[in-house]
Amino acid sequence: MASMKIYMNDGLVDREDAKVSVFDHGLLYGDGIFEGIRLYDGCVFKLEAHLERLEFSAKAIMLNLPWSREELTEAICETCRANGLRDGYIRLVVTRGEGSLGLSIKNCDSPRLIIIADSIQLYPEEFYENGLKIITVPTRRCNPSALPPAVKSLNYLNNILAKIEAQHLGYHEAIMLNDQGYVAECTGDNIFVIHKGKLITPAASAGALKGITRDTALEIADKLNIPWEEANLTRYDIWVADELFLTGTAAEIIPIVEVDARPIGTGKPGAITAQFLEAFRQVVTQDGTKL
Ligand code: PMP
Repeated sequence: MASMKIYMNDGLVDREDAKVSVFDHGLLYGDGIFEGIRLYDGCVFKLEAHLERLEFSAKAIMLNLPWSREELTEAICETCRANGLRDGYIRLVVTRGEGSLGLSIKNCDSPRLIIIADSIQLYPEEFYENGLKIITVPTRRCNPSALPPAVKSLNYLNNILAKIEAQHLGYHEAIMLNDQGYVAECTGDNIFVIHKGKLITPAASAGALKGITRDTALEIADKLNIPWEEANLTRYDIWVADELFLTGTAAEIIPIVEVDARPIGTGKPGAITAQFLEAFRQVVTQDGTKL
């Protein structure tokens, strides 16, 4: 079988040759940014939005991207084509690059670009049909004034600690609160409440990543004429919601049927959530960049 091709800085290499220096600050400090992107039927979903978020993350951490949006688009498409993919998951990583031991970014001269395109390990269909049970975990989401949650950085330890807590108790996902006790997001997904016909989700200022799937869900809400707002949510608001769902590039839209041992709504995936999932599966090939 032909070796998987990985894009490294300026071209494709075999997987075995895709290597990074031990002095790369992405490895030493988690100093870098990334995007997780889906390929649906030969279309890269919301590529412009992902590249814009990458540019904003880069700007926020003062990392100068030497690649234009057009160059990144071409590199992503080339990587998918070289691996013969029509559907899959693309991981775009930019690290600060090689430097000396020490936090200073001053001698990190050239950022490193890595693009991996692979088939995707989908969540079991059961999650979508029966919904997921989740819990709130003790680990709080980083304070936005310490590390802006909108920066999709390579440093995921905060989320990993929360994920460990969830898995330890037998759950796949967990709600993370911010330091004020309001709901921020889940470890790798955004969260939405449906209450009395209204869609509500925490704002980025409450500790949520500005998820691309989150934006898509808000666009779908407009199409379905469902009013929405960004607001602070407490655990109580979650427990008494009529419906609840999570959004994320890998997860898409997943219904939540139980939180902290309380059934949500009827304890079965909600009807409005089902409408969102159906609408989402229709848009994924409409809003894409063709390979
Ligand atoms: N929050 C966190 C912490 C994430 O890592 C992700 C991406 N996996 C999301 C939310 C969802 O964002 P997106 O829809 O852009 O994948």
